[in-house]
Amino acid sequence: MIWRQKIGFRLLAYIVLFSTAVTLISSATQLYLDYRNQVRSIEARLDDIEESYADSLAAGLWSIDSEQLRLQVEGIVRLPDMRAAEVRELVRNDTRPLVITAGRRQEHAVISREIPLIHAGRDGSERIGTFYIEGTLDEVYDRLIDAALVILVSQGVMTFLVSLFTLFIFHRLVTRHLADIARFFRSHDLRISSPTLELNRPGPPLGDELDHMVDAINTMSGDLYTANCELSGLNTNLERDLALRAAKEQELRQTVRELERANAELDRFAYVASHDLQEPLRTITSFAQLLERKYKGKLDSEACEYIEFTVTAAKRMHALINDLLVYSRINANGTPFGPASTEAACAAAIDNLHQAIAESGAEISVGPLPEVQGDEAQLVQVFQNLLGNAIKFHRPGQTPHVRIEAQRIDDRWRFSVADDGIGITSEHGDIFEIFRRLHTIAEFPGTGVGLAICKSIILHHQGEIWYESAAGIGSTFYFTLS
Ligand code: ADP
Repeated sequence: MIWRQKIGFRLLAYIVLFSTAVTLISSATQLYLDYRNQVRSIEARLDDIEESYADSLAAGLWSIDSEQLRLQVEGIVRLPDMRAAEVRELVRNDTRPLVITAGRRQEHAVISREIPLIHAGRDGSERIGTFYIEGTLDEVYDRLIDAALVILVSQGVMTFLVSLFTLFIFHRLVTRHLADIARFFRSHDLRISSPTLELNRPGPPLGDELDHMVDAINTMSGDLYTANCELSGLNTNLERDLALRAAKEQELRQTVRELERANAELDRFAYVASHDLQEPLRTITSFAQLLERKYKGKLDSEACEYIEFTVTAAKRMHALINDLLVYSRINANGTPFGPASTEAACAAAIDNLHQAIAESGAEISVGPLPEVQGDEAQLVQVFQNLLGNAIKFHRPGQTPHVRIEAQRIDDRWRFSVADDGIGITSEHGDIFEIFRRLHTIAEFPGTGVGLAICKSIILHHQGEIWYESAAGIGSTFYFTLS
């Protein structure tokens, strides 16, 4: 179990690495200091030898007592850390100099010394030879290697034991509890009130970080359970709301479908009715007109008046039916939308109204008009109805002035048809409603369908239509197209 702890092993690796580095640095320092001390002590020994032996060696050499010299030189070599010693007589005359050597000299000695051997006679001092001593570091190195081995082995063993102990303590104090916490979370179920987390440990009297963590986990677990309960409640409500909403949407879709069907039926009914009414109406109108022409002067004035009422009413009904027919065809018979020139549509409308324009003397100015997406024939109808009203509802005795223009606003075109006519004063309902009129037939002729046709066409083009007006000053009708 303890061997599977990854954190523990990382800790172990860090301890081993760190203590190895510390051991190496401290051992190297220690060994270097030892080395320096030992070299110094060898040099001190050379000093001692020089002091103690120089005179007696000089005396031995002066008296050429080679036996005594040998004994002394061999004695010196036996001293610790001495490798070689040699006494060499100075070359005098042609005789061979005396040389006594003990040990084996090295070519590049690390520690050596050459001491002149001086004989002090009555005539003064004289150099008679040279005393050479050479130390060795071999034993120093051996001793240092031994010391290094001892340090490394003891430190290694100590580091290993301390690491194992640390790993064990870390496991007891931390990692086994972390594993318990992980187990607790794995088995934790938000939907049920789980038992509280408790660690198997005596725990310090005042509580430590682990105790604080356990407290925090238990609080969090309780909070999560409460939040989950609330969320479940909200979810249930939401699901109920969604189901209700879906049912409502379904209902709405059904209503829209029914409305669309009813609308289509209504359009068809209006179309069929107005279409089928045309024929008998034409017969009534023709016969009434025939009566009027044939019996004019033969019938009394009352009968003539009745016939005239009949003809006027039949003509009015004819106009109403015609407008109704146009109105009922807007959504059904519109051609697919494409690029449509509003300039051409406006020009066609002016052309269609040339008689009314000529009779009223209306002055019409048209600004540059754009190309839009739509049904050009329907747009002719819109311009014609608005321009027709602008001319029709002029102030008595005044020449009507009409201005038609278009302005780009955001991604749409806003068209305006402005007149200086009587203006719209009454608040009697929406003038865009079918058959809504603010004047009597005697005041201004009309069917009350023109603006309804405009609104239907503009809505069919996904646009908007509205007006601004001031009584006695004039009205401006606006509509938008893309
Ligand atoms: P009609 O023109 O056949 O009466 P419309 O639907 O075109 O029917 O117009 C509805 C009513 O709106 C008109 O009867 C009139 O009272 C008012 N109206 C429309 N255009 C104007 C205008 N330019 N100036 C004043 N009143 C207007």
